Amino acid sequence: PVVTRFAPSPTGFLHIGGARTALFNYLFAKANGGKFTLRIEDTDQQRSTPEATEAILSGMRWLGLKWDGEEVYQSQRAERHAEVAHQLLESGRAYKCYATAEELAEMRERARAEKRPIRYDGTWRDRDPADAPVDAPFTVRIKAPQSGSTTISDAVQGDVTVPNSELDDFIILRSDGTPTYMLAVVVDDHDMGVTHLIRGDDHLNNAFRQRVIIEAMDWDLPQWAHVPLIHGQDGAKLSKRHGALGVEAYREMGFLPEALENYLLRLGWGHGDEEIVSRSRAEELFTLDGIGRNPARFDIKKLENLNGHYIRAARDDHLLTVVQPEVEISLGRDLSGEEAALLLRTIPELKPRAKTINELADGALFLFRTRPLTMDEKASALLEKDGGELLAKAYKSLQDAPNWEAKALGEELRALAASEDVGLGKIAQPLRAALTGRTVSPGVFEMLELLGRSESLARIEDRLP
Ligand code: GLU
Repeated sequence: PVVTRFAPSPTGFLHIGGARTALFNYLFAKANGGKFTLRIEDTDQQRSTPEATEAILSGMRWLGLKWDGEEVYQSQRAERHAEVAHQLLESGRAYKCYATAEELAEMRERARAEKRPIRYDGTWRDRDPADAPVDAPFTVRIKAPQSGSTTISDAVQGDVTVPNSELDDFIILRSDGTPTYMLAVVVDDHDMGVTHLIRGDDHLNNAFRQRVIIEAMDWDLPQWAHVPLIHGQDGAKLSKRHGALGVEAYREMGFLPEALENYLLRLGWGHGDEEIVSRSRAEELFTLDGIGRNPARFDIKKLENLNGHYIRAARDDHLLTVVQPEVEISLGRDLSGEEAALLLRTIPELKPRAKTINELADGALFLFRTRPLTMDEKASALLEKDGGELLAKAYKSLQDAPNWEAKALGEELRALAASEDVGLGKIAQPLRAALTGRTVSPGVFEMLELLGRSESLARIEDRLP
């Protein structure tokens, strides 16, 4: 059975590159009826924080990437890692190295002087253990193959081969008995039954060393899939400057998780030219050979467009649950039940144009502002120029309107425009300014209906000369 894993190091937030890795692992597991597991690689005690772990878990929950079983904490498995190191010592696939710090420094110096890559020279590899200094600290090194080459058959990168002369006998257990990262990853992946390893291609180099440990233990090789990292618009590796933010930042900017997910999926994976791929469809379709070999470029405009799509497609009552809190934050107070119902009725009018939840919320604020409304600059300029007479006439005909309903009000105002011999805009624009304090809003007839007769008339009155 397929088992995948996402193995973040909790040294910062869940950035979008990590979120995409998690998503690919999740989808591949689902597409194959397998399990998606989560391992927190918190062995670097200096850099790992509980806050970062929490940010990763909550980012995954927000994206709906549910992992199977309990998450595994790598730091709690140090004993098991050491056990494997000792097994490798016993089987002769690893050895104790007593090289001192000075000797290692010398080795580095020599390599530098001879312009060779820095490699452990293998001194203790074949040395008689009887030579070992008594009670001296030692590290455990794996015996890497010394001739031939090592190939990683990667589902994305194809076969990648390095000469074994590039793999030195690296340390798997430090002199204080703690495992190195290389050992911990291999042991955990094995114990968690991981069959497919999908991760950023910045880890491809590690795969060669990890393979040495796997083979020394006689364990099965996983299927590797190293995914090209996300780049910015300028082609450079994505950094904060490009918007490589935590997923919670996208949430705060008003993106829906389903839109971010769809965007991340398409960023580096494709099925024909389908742009809109729902979660359930992705769970059906996802394959490793749909992953592109070239780094994809992050494009916030595309993400916004997708978000607009998901906003339009979302149910109004669902949008209310995310828009209402935003509105409440802006107003600095809670909405009453009646106000929330008004917001719900307004959402269909705001949806067609909004690219983010924040835009939606912002567009709805006028509903709840107290009179007299503050006008933005454009609205007050417009009222100054075009307000006066026509606004007063519109007020008069609205006052007499028998039926306070968008369609009827529209007819009323159209008739007025015709009798005044002006375009409808000449009447609608100052009205919109008076009703909302702005020059852009959804249809003004709908706004009149939503605000109701007395509030609408009062807002207009506030603007009459
Ligand atoms: N913990 C590593 C990281 O956050 C990933 C290790 C792996 O996927 O093998 O970059």
